[in-house]
Parts: sequence; C-alpha cells; structure tokens
Amino acid sequence: MRYANVFPLVTARAVAREFTYAVDDDVRVGAIVRVPFGRSRARGIVVRLTDEAPAGVDVRPVEAVVGEIPEKLVELALWIADYYGSTPARALALVAPETPKRRKEQAPPAERQSLAGEAEPRELSPEQRAAIDRIAAGGGPFLLHGPTGSGKTEVYLQACAAVLERGFGAIVLVPEIALAPQTVGRFRARFGDRVAILHSALTDAERRDERERIASGEARVVVGARSAVFAPMRGLGLIVVDEEHDPSYKQDSDPRYDARTVAAKRAALEGAVAVYGSATPRPESWAALERLALGARIGASLPPVRVVDLRREAGYPLSAPLLAELRGVAERRGKAILLLNRRGVAPALHCRACGATIRCPNCDVALVLHGDTSLRCHHCGHGEPAPSTCPACGSPELARIGAGTQKLERELAREVPELELIRLDADAVAKPEQLAASLAKFAATDGAVLLGTQMVAKGHHFAGVELAAVVDADGGLGMPDFRAEERTFQLITQLAGRSGRDAPGRVLVQTFQPDARPVVHAARHDVGRFLAEELARREALAYPPFTHLVRILVAGPALEPVMRALEELKAGIPGADLLGPAPLYRLRGKYRAQLVAKTDAPRRIATQAARLLSAAAPAMRRAHLTAVVDVDPQSL
Ligand code: ADP
Ligand code: ZN
Ligand code: ZN
Repeated sequence: MRYANVFPLVTARAVAREFTYAVDDDVRVGAIVRVPFGRSRARGIVVRLTDEAPAGVDVRPVEAVVGEIPEKLVELALWIADYYGSTPARALALVAPETPKRRKEQAPPAERQSLAGEAEPRELSPEQRAAIDRIAAGGGPFLLHGPTGSGKTEVYLQACAAVLERGFGAIVLVPEIALAPQTVGRFRARFGDRVAILHSALTDAERRDERERIASGEARVVVGARSAVFAPMRGLGLIVVDEEHDPSYKQDSDPRYDARTVAAKRAALEGAVAVYGSATPRPESWAALERLALGARIGASLPPVRVVDLRREAGYPLSAPLLAELRGVAERRGKAILLLNRRGVAPALHCRACGATIRCPNCDVALVLHGDTSLRCHHCGHGEPAPSTCPACGSPELARIGAGTQKLERELAREVPELELIRLDADAVAKPEQLAASLAKFAATDGAVLLGTQMVAKGHHFAGVELAAVVDADGGLGMPDFRAEERTFQLITQLAGRSGRDAPGRVLVQTFQPDARPVVHAARHDVGRFLAEELARREALAYPPFTHLVRILVAGPALEPVMRALEELKAGIPGADLLGPAPLYRLRGKYRAQLVAKTDAPRRIATQAARLLSAAAPAMRRAHLTAVVDVDPQSL
C-alpha cells in the first residue's frame, strides 16, 4: 500500500489543505482521483506519494482513478496558488478541468473555425531568419516585435515546425480566439490535424475531445486563448504568446493568474522556450526580455497618421476632415474601419437644470443610453426605461453626453448613406458566429465601414482598407489608471495597423489632446521612443516593471465591515507598506474597498494574505464579505 497526498477540488478557502488517502502502487503524481470527502465525494489531484501512513489518522482508500494530468502541471498549479494568493484546489482545477463523458465522434472544431491559410513564403527576410535561428538555439524568453504585417506569425509557424521536427510540442496563445480564425487557418494549413484549438466558446464535448487529442500526443500544436497555457501537452518545446500586450491574458476571477507570467513559468519548468510577440509590446516585456526585431512591414509601408485637433474642428463624432475622408472612401467604393471604444448612443444622460446624472441603482456609475428608450449599466447589466424628465427635479432638459457606437452609426447613416455600415461591439455581436458573419460581410462588401469598439482593432487582415480612424482617442486617457497611456498608444497603433496592408492607407486620429505623448508617438509609429519614455515615467513613479503591485479587495453589503476587514488584514501583514484601505465605487450593489502594495516580494504578501483569508473565511462568510487577492493587477 502507498499513500497519496490529495487536494480535493473544492473551492472553499477553509478546507484548502491536503488529505491523505491510500492508493495502489501504480498511482502517480498527477492522477485525478475520486475520494470520499466528509460525508460526500470529491474529485481530487494527487500531489505527492509516500510509503508511510501518517500517524494517528484513519486513512481511507481513494475510490477510483478517473484520469491523469502531466506531473509538471501539478507543479505549475501549486506555484500559481502560491504566487497569486489563491488555493491549491482552485489552481489545480485550472489544469484538471472537469470534462463530460464521450458520447459521439465529431470533427475537430478547428476544421470549422478557421479560414483558409496562405502558402509558405518562398524566402524569409533576414530578420525573420535571425529570429527563428535565435529561438531554435534556445534560451529566452524572447520578445519578437515588429509592426503588423512584419511577418511575426511566419516566425511562430517556423519555430513551431522546428520544435515538432525535434519531437516536441508547441502551445500558441492568442488573445481571443474567436477573433483569430485567420491565425487558426494558417496553423492548420501548415500542420493539418496536428493542430488542436482550446477556448471558452467550445462546447464541453469539443473541449474534452481536443484535450484528449493533446494528451494522447495526436495533436502537437495547440492554438488557444488564455487557459490553453494549461494544455495537457507532454514534451513541450515552445510557448508563443501572440499580441502579448493584450489585457485579456489576465484572468479576472480567482486565481487571478496572468497567462503571460504562467507561460514563462511553465517554459522554465519544462525547459521550453517562450516567445512573446507584439507590434506594441508592454513596457514590462521591453525592459525584461531578449528582443528580436523584425523591422519594417513586408511589401508595404506604414500608413501616414493625421491627428485631428477637436479643439479646432467642430462636428464630433464626425469632424469635417473625417467626413471628407469617408466621402472619398464612398466615391472609390473602398473600405474604412472606425474605432470608438464605447457602446450605446450616449455614455450619460445629464440634467441641464439641476446637474444630476442618471446613475445605476447598484453601481456608482452613469447609465448608458441605448437606442432612444432604454438605459443600461455596463457593469451589472441593470436596465430601465429612459425617462423623459429628470428623476431628481422633473426638468425635461435631459442632455445626451458624448457618443457611443450606436450614435456613430446613426451619424454615418445620415452623412454617408452610400456606405454599408457594419457595427462590431458586444451588443451587435453576441456570438462568435455573428462576429465571423460580420467580418465576412465586411470583407465581401465594396464601399463599407466597419465601426465598433476595440474589437475592430484586433488582428483582422482585410484587403483594401484605405482608411482607419480613431474617433475619440481621449476616452482611454481619462482613466485613472497608470496604464492609461500605454493602452491608448496600443489602441491607436493597432488600429493603424489595420489599414494600408495592400492598398495605400491613411489613418486619422481625433483628439482633444493632440500633444499627449501616446498620440504623438503613435502618429509617428515610434514604438521604441514611447516605451523608453513610458519606462522612465514608471521608474520615477515606482510602477511596474520596477515594482510589483498586489491588490487585496474586499466587498460586502456595507462599507464599514468592508473597511474593518481590510484594516485587520493590513495589521496581519506587517512591514508590507500597504496603502489603504481606500473605498472604491460601488458595484452590483456591493460596497468595495482595497489595499494596494507596491512591493518587490509579491509572493510573500499574497501568501500571507491568502493565509489570513483562510483563517478568516468562516467569519467573513457570516458577514457576507468576499475577498480577492490580485497580484500584478492589470488595472487599478
Ligand atoms: P504579422 O504576424 O507580423 O502581422 P504576418 O506573418 O501575418 O505578419 O505577415 C504579413 C504578411 O506577409 C502575410 O500575408 C504573410 O504571409 C506575408 N509574409 C510573411 N513573411 C513573408 C516573407 N518572408 N516573404 C513574403 N511574404 C511574407
Ligand atoms: Zn434635474
Ligand atoms: Zn450597475
């Protein structure tokens, strides 16, 4: 008989520890087992084996071994639990997700969810050759940078081919795979059925089948979103993180892991190479990684960017210069992409008489006007009919403040009716199929505008886009977040990358702050200069990458107990230089507040916080308080 230390996969912090069970001799670390737990059963993961029974406990046997994950993934999960201040069970559930039983055979989802790929180029550029050779030589992690269309994907493809040749496998992470059918197509064109895809829009059965194909070694290249970093691949040789600047790599529920950090850790554990790619890298990556530069676009130059100063040009959201450009596009039956990063008609209704803004009853934010008759909260989903008079004073003078994508669509329909309008935002495209249909329609239509939120700036390659415009570059800059400038720079530069890939293109950026650093550098496509200045600023302010941030957030039915719980946590983590507790705006009816640490030892603070939260879990539950530990948060 042997004994196994098992973490039952239960989420409660209060029972976040190992339990010992008796197992057969052939059970290994990574076995997924069914165990008796309290008065019921639980799924659990074997994390350690011993020959000696623990003293003084009545050890029960496991009921069954129901599966297995690679041992390295157990190690990875335990590291995640520790680093992100979560529990081993929650982290292990990421690497061993529950999957249903097999019912029927079906074709792998990649067959349906990819667009046709393109042929391998006849000759690599010298920069591509150098990057591929450097990656093949091992080491890293590497940052592969170059503008959109500079051949990064081709480097990923050839680097994958090289590791496959040597008998290893590869994982390629993309931000949102629903937006990447072209990328999937290129991998399938090169590697055929050896490609598996993993993302949240798969059905449970599809995910189970893909995981089986990966675990069995049939699939050797995994293309997937954030959670694909946990693919049960053995013999991993390469992890690629494409569009590494994308915030969707951070999970926003516990464990709040960052797939980019996890990718580096997994690569280190398995002796694999990690490659991060982007046209607009993060300051973190620019400072820390070995850079591989691809230089210019292949077969095209970057489009000129014109900044429209909205202090001088009337007509928001459509200024005269933007309208003139759009009329030109209409005349030539061309295509344009317009980005406005806000949904709805107007982001707020404001009373001209008493100054009140109509707010969400559950959250401290303004309600957004959708259509002409409904108000919606973009945080909690609360909806109510739009009033015709001010609820506070009864005045009929309600002003619509600002513009969202629906308003932009209306103005376009009025001003340039000859253009076909295709709107891309979370209201217009709820499902991946709708997204694919909208993109296909845009590709097939002459004289069309694709307008929408940041969805339009992501990864699509369309022939013949002659104009790309940022309708309002200021929205993001106003955010009280140290990454606001980085995000604005990325958004403008990424959108600019959508135009002129084959036809001569132009880019227009409308802003009230034409001298803002992100606007100025994005207009010159000057990534290096922006990053150098941004890093200097971050260093002066002691922000990442020069320090780590750890945020501890508590939410509850009233502010006072929330603040008290945070004061107690703060007292329990001495010497950590925690700022706060600072109240945050109310969300979904919950009062919230947070502690923030700037620290060189994020793991220590997260571990201490997790330990305190485990001890306090029963009392917090009674008080209806919830807590999260967020290490390396993406927004503050
Ligand atoms: P990125 O990923 O940086 O946006 P891609 O790899 O998609 O760039 O390359 C942009 C375009 O150039 C694609 O159509 C690709 O097939 C083509 N391409 C890539 N490398 C070469 C090359 N060495 N010679 C010719 N065309 C290439
Ligand atoms: Zn009023
Ligand atoms: Zn709300």
